[in-house]
Amino acid sequence: MLVKNDKIRKPEILKISDHNILPESLDKDASSIVHRLNEAGFEAYIVGGFVRDSILGLKPKDSDVVTNATPDEIKKIVPKTRIIGRRFKIVHARAGRRLTEISTFRAADKNQTSKSNKGLILRDNNYGTIEQDAFRRDFTINSLYLDLQKMEVLDFTGGYTDLKNRILKTIGKSSERFREDPVRILRAIRFKSKLDLKLDPEIEKDIHKLSYLLEEIPSGRNYEETLKMFMTGSAEKIFLEMQTYNLTKYLLPQTKNFLSSKKDKRFILNALRDTDQRYRNNQTLTPSFLFSVLLWPALVNKTGPLNFKKIKITKVSRIANFILKKHNENCFIPKRIQQSIKETWELQILLMKIPEKAHIAIKHKRFRAAYDFLLLREKSGEKLNQIGDWWTKKITKKI
Ligand code: ATP
Ligand code: MG
Repeated sequence: MLVKNDKIRKPEILKISDHNILPESLDKDASSIVHRLNEAGFEAYIVGGFVRDSILGLKPKDSDVVTNATPDEIKKIVPKTRIIGRRFKIVHARAGRRLTEISTFRAADKNQTSKSNKGLILRDNNYGTIEQDAFRRDFTINSLYLDLQKMEVLDFTGGYTDLKNRILKTIGKSSERFREDPVRILRAIRFKSKLDLKLDPEIEKDIHKLSYLLEEIPSGRNYEETLKMFMTGSAEKIFLEMQTYNLTKYLLPQTKNFLSSKKDKRFILNALRDTDQRYRNNQTLTPSFLFSVLLWPALVNKTGPLNFKKIKITKVSRIANFILKKHNENCFIPKRIQQSIKETWELQILLMKIPEKAHIAIKHKRFRAAYDFLLLREKSGEKLNQIGDWWTKKITKKI
C-alpha cells in the first residue's frame, strides 16, 4: 500500500511515558549499529518485533534496524556484516550468536516480482522514505519505529493503539496484503498465538478465504517460516491454532494425516511443549529434532511400530528417504539437517539393542538427540520395555 497521493503523513509520536521502553533495555548490538549509522549522517531506527514486544512488556527475540542507508553503505559503516537476499537486499550483522537484521527503507513492492528481471535500477527505485516503509510492512503493530536519540516511537499506521487493544490488523486490506504475500497468513497466526492477540474480523475471514494461496509459497521459504513458528517459544499454541484454521495441511501435509490419532497428537504436543520450555530456559533447539518429531507419525505409519530390535535399520533408512523427499516438495529441509533427522530415527533401533550395541550408540554424534527422542516416545505412552530408564542409568553411570 502506498502513501495515498504521495502525501506525507505525520506520524503519531509516543514519548517514553507512553511506550515505556527504557534505554537500558535496548539491545547493545542494535544500539551500536544505529549510533554508527547516525554518526555517518544516516537516519536509523529500531523497528518491528523489538519495539512491539517491548511495549507489550515481553522479552524481544532480537532487533531489526531500518535506515535510509543502502546495503552497500551499511556494509561500509557497520562491522561484521553480510549482504543477503536477491529480490531485496538486506544486511545481517553478527555478534557471536546474535544476529541483527538491517534493512533499507522500502516502498511497497507492487509489480516488483513481475518486473524483477529489469534488475538493479528497479530495485534501487524501490527504496523509499520512512513513511513508505511504514506502509509496506505487514501489520500495524509491526510498524513502530524507535528513535534512539529522542527515545520516541513513531507510529504511522495506528499500531500503538492496536497493540494496546491487543488486536492484529493488516496495514491496508488484508485480502490485498495476503494476496501480495501469503506468508503473512502464517505470520498472523504466529503473532496471534505468541502475543495473545485478537484477529481483526477481516483477517479472520480472509485467512479462511485465501489460505489456499499458501500452496504457492516456495519450499525454502516454508522451511524458514516453520522454524519461526515452532522454535520461538509458542510452538504448542501455534500448532493448535494451525489446526483450528485448517492450515497444517500446507506446511506439514504428511503430519496432518495423523492428527486424529490421540497417540500421535500427544507425542507431537508433548514435544512442542518441551521445545517451548527449552526456549524459555535458553537451551539449544535444533531444526532436526523438530522435524524428526513432526514427521515421526508419517514414518512409523510406513515402517510399522519401531518397538522391537529385530527391525532392520536399512528399512527405516529407506522409508525415511521417502518421507523426507515428499516433505521437501513443499517445505525444503537443508541436506545436512535431513541427515540428522535420519540419524535420530535410525538410532531408535540401535538404542533398543541393549546392552550389546550400547557402546556404539553412545558414541554416535546424534546420541543425545536420539535419547531425548526415545524418552519423549515413552512419555507419550509408547511401550518400549523401559529402555529409556536403562539409558538414563547408563548415562548417569548407575549401570
Ligand atoms: P520476531 O519477533 O518474530 O522477529 P518480527 O515482527 O520482528 O517478529 P521479522 O520476521 O523479524 O518479524 O520481520 C521484521 C519486520 O519486517 C516485521 O516486524 C515487519 O514490519 C516486516 N516484515 C517481515 N515480514 C514481512 C512480510 N512478509 N510482509 C511485510 N512486512 C514484513
Ligand atoms: Mg524480528
